[in-house]
Amino acid sequence: MASDDRERKERRMSETFRAIRVSRDEAKTQSVDIVEMSTDDLMDGDVDVAVEATTVNYKDGLAITGRGPVVRRWPLIPGIDLAGTVLRSTHAGWQGGDKVVLNGWGVGETHHGAFAGRARLNGDWLVPLPENFSAKDAMAIGTAGYTAMLSVMALEDAGLSPDAGPVVVTGASGGVGSVAVALLSKLGWTVIASTGRPAEAGWLRDLGATEIIDRAELAEPGRPLAKERWAGGVDAVGSHTLANVLAATKYGGVVTCCGLAQGMDLPASVAPFILRGVSLLGIDSVMAPKPRRLRAWKRLAEDLDPAKLRAIATDIDFDGIVDAAGKIIDGQIRGRVVVDMS
Ligand code: NDP
Repeated sequence: MASDDRERKERRMSETFRAIRVSRDEAKTQSVDIVEMSTDDLMDGDVDVAVEATTVNYKDGLAITGRGPVVRRWPLIPGIDLAGTVLRSTHAGWQGGDKVVLNGWGVGETHHGAFAGRARLNGDWLVPLPENFSAKDAMAIGTAGYTAMLSVMALEDAGLSPDAGPVVVTGASGGVGSVAVALLSKLGWTVIASTGRPAEAGWLRDLGATEIIDRAELAEPGRPLAKERWAGGVDAVGSHTLANVLAATKYGGVVTCCGLAQGMDLPASVAPFILRGVSLLGIDSVMAPKPRRLRAWKRLAEDLDPAKLRAIATDIDFDGIVDAAGKIIDGQIRGRVVVDMS
């Protein structure tokens, strides 16, 4: 009887919500549907969150289009970023009403993700929403912006400062790139923005770029060492672009690497490392330890100009997520998209 009561109570507590679900049939053909799901369908976790805002990152684009092996459990709700309010929690660190942010930790890859009205998560994955950000602000930043901050912190931690010379940002019109341009310029760096979209030059200058270069300059195979042009780099593109960034980095310079928009290969030589003492630093946001995440979000709250954040973000609604996923993979999204889920 007691267990019947408990079951009835639990059933009453289950809620339904809309979600994007990616599935695969026996032939491994992927399909994407908008479905009604229930909190009973969610995976294990000790914190339930009402999702108020999410976003579409490059990785979400790969997950929804199936153009990269992001989803590793089927069927799955994709979406690697969310901001919202805790509904219920059995985790010591969180209680109902807390405002939280989630980036990564395999959410949207192996654990049901952000493209749903509700998420059930491990409380250890969550960070508090910084006080001066709304849920939508946090998603205008999202994993891309938080990765841009991790990249800037890596340059600083390596001892590089604006007086060393300019810093180049590749994929500058994209999510990581645009936030990196805004952050670096606010911190006093001279920013060279590399983009394939000359029409966005004005927008990039407004974000803080002082020079715009055509990404075609960096996209083809180049020499192992080139004329020294910049002291540092924030690269989200990989492949020949990163190889050419390294080849043109000044003596003692530092380059961060987080992405593969051009390709996963790195057709470079050791010359910049052994002849100019250049350092290449890898950036991972997904499994970054909590203290580093907290530091990155604190720095974003301090160092990201709110007006520039507004200029970077475009609002879409839940029904626009699938379309935005295709566009980001085709390089047609400028800056960041924010999905209002409230
Ligand atoms: P976006 O699609 O928003 O930005 C990528 C940008 O790269 C595009 O806007 C475009 O900029 C440029 N680009 C696209 N295709 C090419 C190409 N073929 N050759 C050269 N440049 C190209 O993606 P995000 O900013 O969200 O992510 C960027 C990369 O970083 C992705 O690979 C993503 O997976 C990775 N990433 C990695 C993280 C980590 O933890 N390591 C975290 C977040 C992102 P433009 O038009 O200005 O040339």
